[in-house]
Amino acid sequence: MKAHTQETQATITPEKSIQFLKEGNQRFQNNLKANRNLLEQVNDTSEGQFPFATILSCIDSRVSAELVFDQGLGDIFSVRIAGNFVNEDILGSMEFACKLAGTKVIVVLGHTSCGAIKGACDHAELGNLTKLIEKITPAVNAVEAPKDEALRTSKNLDFVDEVAKKNVELTIDRIHAESPILSEMEKNGEIKIVGAMYDISTGAVEFY
Ligand SMILES: [Zn+2]
Repeated sequence: MKAHTQETQATITPEKSIQFLKEGNQRFQNNLKANRNLLEQVNDTSEGQFPFATILSCIDSRVSAELVFDQGLGDIFSVRIAGNFVNEDILGSMEFACKLAGTKVIVVLGHTSCGAIKGACDHAELGNLTKLIEKITPAVNAVEAPKDEALRTSKNLDFVDEVAKKNVELTIDRIHAESPILSEMEKNGEIKIVGAMYDISTGAVEFY
């Protein structure tokens, strides 16, 4: 498999981008890899990059976007932050990736058993992490069930995963609300902004 070029990037639609990612995750789940020579891709991409997707995922060591979607050099912009939320700088990175560098899809990729989400469920406090976790708190509050406070902690993995899903939804809402550039591109059909969840126990990505 070759690195994308300006010509191949131009033929890729948002739908096709999602298809590439789904196929890549299928290969990953089946322990297959596309045949690519990474060193050759270093050479092929040295003059420029023409990636097709931008993926916002968690820093979790088990959720490397390149690995779980079986992608090579020059294929995806990978934005990673604990709890996969957006701020001004991350929105700016996404605007660069889509408007200037031509990627066709933004995937907000949450994952099961996320430590940052667990921290938010438990209202954890630790140094700079406290501020980061506060940014996920709206997702905790937006999940209505269960009502019993005792069940709204990191010990309840179903609750943790519900919050992770809600966090993906709220992150997509924020992208729409705070990036007129990306909203406009989506309205024009130039890009799609989608949510997905990675299951750390199976390696499967479920797109919404
Ligand atoms: Zn995580």
